[in-house]
Amino acid sequence: MRYGTIEPIKQIGEIAKKHDIYFHTDAVQAIGNVRIDVKDMNIDLLSMSGHKFYGPKGVGVLYVRKDINFLKIQNGGHQEKNKRAGTENVAGIVGIGKAIELAYKDFDNKINYLKELRDYYIKKVEENISDIKINGDMNNRLAGNINISFKEVDGGELLLKLDEKGICVSTGSACNSESQGASHVLTAIGLEPCYANGSVRVSLGKDNTKDEIDYFVDVLKECVYELRKNKSI
Ligand SMILES: *Cc1c(COP(=O)(O)O)cnc(C)c1O
Repeated sequence: MRYGTIEPIKQIGEIAKKHDIYFHTDAVQAIGNVRIDVKDMNIDLLSMSGHKFYGPKGVGVLYVRKDINFLKIQNGGHQEKNKRAGTENVAGIVGIGKAIELAYKDFDNKINYLKELRDYYIKKVEENISDIKINGDMNNRLAGNINISFKEVDGGELLLKLDEKGICVSTGSACNSESQGASHVLTAIGLEPCYANGSVRVSLGKDNTKDEIDYFVDVLKECVYELRKNKSI
């Protein structure tokens, strides 16, 4: 979901089930943004991470369907049902439990607000900056996640310039920030290299405002202009 596209999880789960294959979904981006019903969606295993939905860092959840056995990757830990070593992080677990409760409270209003901000950002970028491409599916997309490519711009350089102005965004995938060059996913979905190197992912949160987006797009416009100018010299 790193480009904001919501994949057809239920249908993928159906196919896996039909062929007797276990289905694990990395739902880290989806929690708090998409309603999930593991039974209805044919999900066997699902992972989530607390800090992606305003919960504590360092704690996550792996949902495992009751009758599934999996090989543990650490030895020891009888007190953890022999699945993992180490005593549980009680404060983290309580925190993530509360965070997920809050993540689905007032859900529709939150999602509608994020969509409004997202569409406002897209419209402003389209009006102010030329030669851009919006990545991912336009309809089935995550409310607060936008990935836009800027032609002939280096995403890493753009990131640094924005950071200097107090704006934190990401290029490519945060899990993969060490890797250089174009994202293999963007290349795989058919983006040309002159676009794929300049992709910026913006994650909006419930506390962001339209004023912040106005400031952001003003700065973005200036930075993209400068980087393109320097490149053409
Ligand atoms: C953030 C993220 C991860 C990594 O989770 P951490 O708990 O931050 O290590 C994995 N998958 C996706 C889709 C993510 O967005």
